[in-house]
Amino acid sequence: MSDILEHVSPSRAPRTQNPKALARGAKWLSASRLRPTRQRVALAALLIGDGKQRHFTVEDLYSAARAADESVSLATVYNTVKAFCDVGLVQEVTVDGARSYYDTNTHDHPHFFWQDEGRLSDAPADGMKITGLPQAPDGAEVISVDVVIRLRRRGD
Ligand SMILES: [Zn+2]
Repeated sequence: MSDILEHVSPSRAPRTQNPKALARGAKWLSASRLRPTRQRVALAALLIGDGKQRHFTVEDLYSAARAADESVSLATVYNTVKAFCDVGLVQEVTVDGARSYYDTNTHDHPHFFWQDEGRLSDAPADGMKITGLPQAPDGAEVISVDVVIRLRRRGD
């Protein structure tokens, strides 16, 4: 859950983020129609600034922002993530109703959900075959199939 915090040193939180990460964030945002406000760029940098994909919740990103000395409210982070989602920069992964998980990898891929930790990770797609789907009801079409494989640690 805390992989988002990896590139932010919690003990010596930088006043400003790494310029390279911010440049990556700005470039990532420019692929959308969102105006690159300072806060959006800062949050984008926390998400993809290290060049890696990640799964996160709004709370994860909020914690990472606080650790990086970004003064944003939880509501702003929530709205920003929602905006990123609306323009297709991130996708929401439906795991359960209680919490929303997001993914910077917007291609279709299956997920593992580690139930004990409440953590999402990518599952290898090559072991999976979907050979059929129920017929969509009249007047509807299937737009996506979300695959979440729930895991728990074995007790042995
Ligand atoms: Zn994923």
